[in-house]
Amino acid sequence: MTQLECKEIFAMLSQYLDRELPGDVCDQIWQHINGCPPCVEFVKSLEKTVALCREVPFSERPTPLGEDALERLKAAFQK
Ligand SMILES: [Zn+2]
Repeated sequence: MTQLECKEIFAMLSQYLDRELPGDVCDQIWQHINGCPPCVEFVKSLEKTVALCREVPFSERPTPLGEDALERLKAAFQK
C-alpha cells in the first residue's frame, strides 16, 4: 500500500473544493493525515472540510468551504 505524499493530499483537497472527491479518497486522505503532523496542521485550517469529509456522504454535502478556507488552500499550493 503506497503512502500518499503531502502534496497529493493537498491536490486531493483541491479536487474536493471542486466537488470531485469520492468518499474512498476521503479515507485515503485520513489515513495519511493521521500519521503526518504537517498535514494535521494544514487540515486544522480546513476543519470544516474535514468534518464534512468524515461525516457526510459526498453527494449530500452542502457547500463545504468558506472563502477563508479556500484562500488558505490556494496559499498552500503556491508555496
Ligand atoms: Zn502529509
